[in-house]
Amino acid sequence: MRGLMQDVPLTVDTIFRHAEQHHGDVPIVTNNPSGKVRTTYAEWADRTRRLGGVLDTLGVSAEGRVGTFAWNSARHLELYFAAPCTGRVLHTLNVRLFPEQLTYIANHAEDEVVFVDRTVLPLLWPLIDTMTTVRHVVVMDDGGDNEVPDDPRVLDYETLLADAQPVEFTTTDENAAASMCYTSGTTGNPKGVVYSHRSTVLHTMAVVSPNGFGIGVEDVAMPIVPMFHANAWGIAHAAPASGAAMVFPGAMMQPQALADLIIDEGVTFTAGVPTIFQGALPHLAGRTHRLRKIGCGGSAVPKALSEAYREQVGLPLYQAWGMTETHPVASGGTLSARWADADEGAKAERRARAGLPLFGVLARIVDADTLEEQPWDDKATGELQVRGPWCAQDYYRPDAGVELATPDGWMKTGDVAAMDENGNIRIADRTKDLIKSGGEWISSVDLENAIMSHPAVKEAAVIAIPHPKWDERPLACVVLREGETVTGQEIIDHITPLVAKWWLPEAVEFIDEVPKTSVGKFSKKDLRSRFADYPVND
Ligand code: ADP
Repeated sequence: MRGLMQDVPLTVDTIFRHAEQHHGDVPIVTNNPSGKVRTTYAEWADRTRRLGGVLDTLGVSAEGRVGTFAWNSARHLELYFAAPCTGRVLHTLNVRLFPEQLTYIANHAEDEVVFVDRTVLPLLWPLIDTMTTVRHVVVMDDGGDNEVPDDPRVLDYETLLADAQPVEFTTTDENAAASMCYTSGTTGNPKGVVYSHRSTVLHTMAVVSPNGFGIGVEDVAMPIVPMFHANAWGIAHAAPASGAAMVFPGAMMQPQALADLIIDEGVTFTAGVPTIFQGALPHLAGRTHRLRKIGCGGSAVPKALSEAYREQVGLPLYQAWGMTETHPVASGGTLSARWADADEGAKAERRARAGLPLFGVLARIVDADTLEEQPWDDKATGELQVRGPWCAQDYYRPDAGVELATPDGWMKTGDVAAMDENGNIRIADRTKDLIKSGGEWISSVDLENAIMSHPAVKEAAVIAIPHPKWDERPLACVVLREGETVTGQEIIDHITPLVAKWWLPEAVEFIDEVPKTSVGKFSKKDLRSRFADYPVND
């Protein structure tokens, strides 16, 4: 017997139409260097339909890739929908990547056009001749006085839009590509992840659900996580899908500007990587705000940071785990009702976990070589593998030897995790960041958490350094808060009761700043090469 329900395709234009029809009066704000720009979903919808007309006029092919090189803004949101809703594929380029990577990615994806914010035009324009498939560069004037080249390929966004006719959105194939995003490629070439319409809609439903970010019509949602990084964690789809007002930081990504925007615009939900919230903390502490949930992830969320938010801002950080390959949100740190009366210490421990898989995602931990499942006892660790309708099955035209899926159809994450009896995930490390000392693994994440619980410590990154006897030993790279002075021995004394004795770092190096990747995470690769010849005692 067949089900007798309507077979309606899950396409991105259903999200668009919902916002257009039901939430037209809801405001969208973008904080540009030239000042705040205010619009509504109604205006956004009209402009997005006309942007569809622009893509036709520019001759972008039926499944052509539409590149963006832009901050979070209402215009970027127009592109987020105009491209997939007309059958094209949105391709967000990361404005912080190295030139060679940008060229590689634009050529690999075969971008036909790139829409670029004027504030970052100088980063893109010098590369344009190396991007062999790009025919047009459309400049979105977000302020500043960067020179706009006098070149026939260069066009002005607002001029094109003013001249364009609105189009109907008629996509019907839910398995067609909607957008693509490349992972930062800590090893080898960047790898392209291709999201389908269907995966986007299902991921959106998970993100709006209470166990996800729980974004609803009462929210004012501000994605700090860039729209060029893993779909802004689904917020740019979840807000229109639920009628939440939107606030975009534009190029104004400085901690003070972010904090002021949160407060001045009454933001209720925001999300970003831990380093963003580390920076924003002093600017938010003690101020009156309307925040009710702060999503944080992309790397381990230090317990001390979450607790500092609870104490100084009034709410802890909600930790989520995911990858570009999982759209990205796959699990979230839920505190079920049974935690209501737990003491704050126990709750903080719980929040330091990656949480439960969101409904729709299956997770397991396995021995990476034998695929043997590890027990859910919170002690055994293994590679975290996931399966679900918004997990990638493969990369776009991968390099030889790059394999994302296991033979039995699960997605490899490269993360090492333990799971408790309910399958609540505790990320121990990324495979490549683990420290192998005397044949046993040391979790850099656990050490960092212990070090960051010292009040004088602002940031800590633990890396492996080569050791003649133990193979590898941990080195703690520590950034102190301004005005603090602490010795390495004091740090070691502080963490001695917190970790196994053989985990204690070989040494503590005080550094001015932890180098960051293009998406604001700790760049351990840079630290490893900086300290590759670190002198050790055998
Ligand atoms: P990259 O960091 O390589 O640019 P992603 O942004 O896709 O790519 O990052 C995915 C990785 O980020 C995960 O594999 C994991 O290592 C890390 N990560 C994400 N969320 C968390 C979390 N809550 N705790 C620890 N690590 C996390």
